[in-house]
Amino acid sequence: SLMTTDYDTIAAISTPPGVGGIAIVRVSGSTAIALVEKVFSGPDLTKVATHTINYGHLIDAGAHRETVDEVMVTVMRAPQTYTKEDIVEINCHGGIEVTNQVLQLVLRQGARLAEPGEFTKRAFLNGRIDLSQSEAVMDLIDAKTATAQKAALNQLDGSLSRVVKRLRQELVDLLANVEVNIDYPEYDGAETVTTKLMQTKTNKIMQELDELLQTEQQGKILRDGLETAIVGRPNVGKSSLLNCLLHENKAIVTDVPGTTRDVLDEYVNVRGVPLHLIDTAGIRKTDNQVEKIGVDRSKAALKKADLVLLVLNASEKLTAGDRELLAATQDSKRIILLNKTDLPELIELDQLDVPKATLIKTSAVAENGTRALEAALAKLFFEEGVTSTQLDVMVTNARQASLLEQARSALQTVLEGLKQGLPVDIVQIDLQRAWEFLGEITGDNYDDELMDQLFKKFCIGK
Ligand code: GDP
Ligand code: ZN
Repeated sequence: SLMTTDYDTIAAISTPPGVGGIAIVRVSGSTAIALVEKVFSGPDLTKVATHTINYGHLIDAGAHRETVDEVMVTVMRAPQTYTKEDIVEINCHGGIEVTNQVLQLVLRQGARLAEPGEFTKRAFLNGRIDLSQSEAVMDLIDAKTATAQKAALNQLDGSLSRVVKRLRQELVDLLANVEVNIDYPEYDGAETVTTKLMQTKTNKIMQELDELLQTEQQGKILRDGLETAIVGRPNVGKSSLLNCLLHENKAIVTDVPGTTRDVLDEYVNVRGVPLHLIDTAGIRKTDNQVEKIGVDRSKAALKKADLVLLVLNASEKLTAGDRELLAATQDSKRIILLNKTDLPELIELDQLDVPKATLIKTSAVAENGTRALEAALAKLFFEEGVTSTQLDVMVTNARQASLLEQARSALQTVLEGLKQGLPVDIVQIDLQRAWEFLGEITGDNYDDELMDQLFKKFCIGK
């Protein structure tokens, strides 16, 4: 890992913008403590024990020696801190003006305003966390459900990094093995032994990469939610079912400024899976074209959906529109809701040529069937819902997934080369490439540009 370097001292407001009871101005760097001490009246911060919180006042040393705020100041000395540097956290009163004044005061003592994500970047540069863990910090901040939060926490704990590091080690061992055999060709049959060994080991590592990549879709779902389209012809009960789902489950994000009830942009948490619901409705019985328009809109929504909830009216016979939607959704991940089951059933179930498991009887009026729907959803994407072992190692991030993908394809090239009888010292170049791709996941091979891009995604103060 990297040596701790002496970077300049940075400061930022680490609490969310706006008014709160308290706000925290965080300062990190080798001069952090001395710098705050210059404007602090209270115990001598340069002498207090580490990891203590100290009561006092911040004084603007200008002409009027004005008291800026009454504060609690936490002093944490390196290396056991978030950045592995000295950190001072000033707990001040949470007004926008007060907080800004405290920050300005600290900056005037010689600190530099931190860039977005720079505290976490320091933690990485100083070797406290690796790159995949830094990304976990972002995911943790963004987590929409407790399940997503748990996955991020596991990654922060280094679960993915440990697997990736082990695979890299196996690649290094394999490369070393090849070197020995190339350097001592007098050993009879060295070449064939090496080829065999390389095939076996490469296959094994590829398998593990595949397993990791399989978690990616689930990781993405936990992070971004499932784009879920509720489709069906007008009046089958789409909005009603949506409302049932919404009020039985905690809505996660509500972002519906001044819209009608048919335009909807909301997340609901279904057994740990965030569903982003796309309503296709907004069609009312105004003219006889209405069924066609409804069906067309539904088809458009299908294109961007990860999941389709197709609603049929069980109290009516199947219509041409129903059949059209059934056909249009047959290649999607789909659950068919037979709604209005509180009324006499007229739908011809025997004509529905679909697996029974995807059929769920509901009644939005009687509020029936939403539990069964939730169970089916969980099963469709997570077998029996999200289990804690699945969360142990999960690829939650597109950058990581693409690197795993590239490592895998480099190994694929190795295997093909061996099959064609290429000498091992040629194919080992691709082994090395795989090793490099994996290193980019944890940041063991990092370049500055990538680094900047990644950390800029953070908010200031993290
Ligand atoms: P949408 O056009 O598909 O969104 O359908 P709505 O949710 O607006 O419902 C259309 C009509 O059907 C409304 O009058 C609802 O009250 C009624 N409705 C919806 N679900 C049910 C149900 O399960 N049973 C009964 N009996 N009526 C329902
Ligand atoms: Zn509706």
